[in-house]
Amino acid sequence: MRKPLLIANWKMNQSKKELDSYVRSFSKPLASFVNITQDISIVFAVPFTMLESMQHCVEQFGLKVIAQNVHHKVSGAYTGEISALMLKELGIWGTIVGHSERRQYFGETDALVVEKANLCLTHNLVPVICIGESLQERQNGQTQTVIYNQMSALLDGVTDLTKIVIAYEPVWAIGTGLAATADQAQEVHAQIRSMLQQKGGSSLADNCSILYGGSMKASNTKELMSKPDIDGGLVGGASLIPEEFAQMVREIIN
Ligand code: PEP
Repeated sequence: MRKPLLIANWKMNQSKKELDSYVRSFSKPLASFVNITQDISIVFAVPFTMLESMQHCVEQFGLKVIAQNVHHKVSGAYTGEISALMLKELGIWGTIVGHSERRQYFGETDALVVEKANLCLTHNLVPVICIGESLQERQNGQTQTVIYNQMSALLDGVTDLTKIVIAYEPVWAIGTGLAATADQAQEVHAQIRSMLQQKGGSSLADNCSILYGGSMKASNTKELMSKPDIDGGLVGGASLIPEEFAQMVREIIN
C-alpha cells in the first residue's frame, strides 16, 4: 500500500565536490540488497546548486532528488527566486514546501505553503509539505489544535491531495537531538490520517505518505517505523553522514 519513504534534507550543507564520495559511501553498505527501490523510496533534498549533479550521481541507483524550496509564482520579477517550472526542467521529483525553518526565518504562512504546493502540482512536482508544532505550543497542550489548523489549510486549499507527501516535524525536535517518542509521533500521525480520511475517504488516507521528521537517526528509526501511521522520515543531521543514512535504510528494509 504505502512504500516507506526516506528523505535526506541536507539544508544549506555539503559541497558539490563531495557528492560522488557521499553517494559511494552511502551505497556501499547497501550493495548486498538487490532492487532496494522496490522496498523503499530514497530521496535527497539538496541545495539548488547541487540538484543536477546529484541527479546525475544517484540516477543509476534509482534514487530521487528534490529541492528544499520553491517560489510561489511561476515566473517574473522575483530576483533570486526559483520557480516550479525551473525545477521541473531539471527533471527532479519534487520539493520540500513549508519547512519550519522557512516558516520561522522567512515568514512562510499556511496560505503561502498552499500556493507553493499548488504550483508544484500544476507542474507535476511532488510537494513534501511540512507541518508541526513549536515547543511552546506543545507545552501549552496546543499540539492537536495546531495540527488541526495546519491540516485544515491544506485540506481546504491544495488542489490534488492524492499527490502530496506530508511530513510531521515537531519544531522542538528538529536539530535538537530530542526526537519525539514513537508514541508521541504516532498520535499526531493518526490525527493527520484521520483528517485525510474525513476529507477523502480511505483511498486518500490509505495512500498518503506521512513522514516523521525531527532528530531521526539510525538508533530510533526502527521504533518510529514500527508505528502504523509513520511511513518514513524527513532526516536532517543524520543524513549528512552517508553511513548513518544508509544504516537508517537498513533499519527500515531489514
Ligand atoms: C529536518 O531538517 O527536516 C530535520 C528533521 O532535521 P533533523 O533530522 O536534523 O532534526
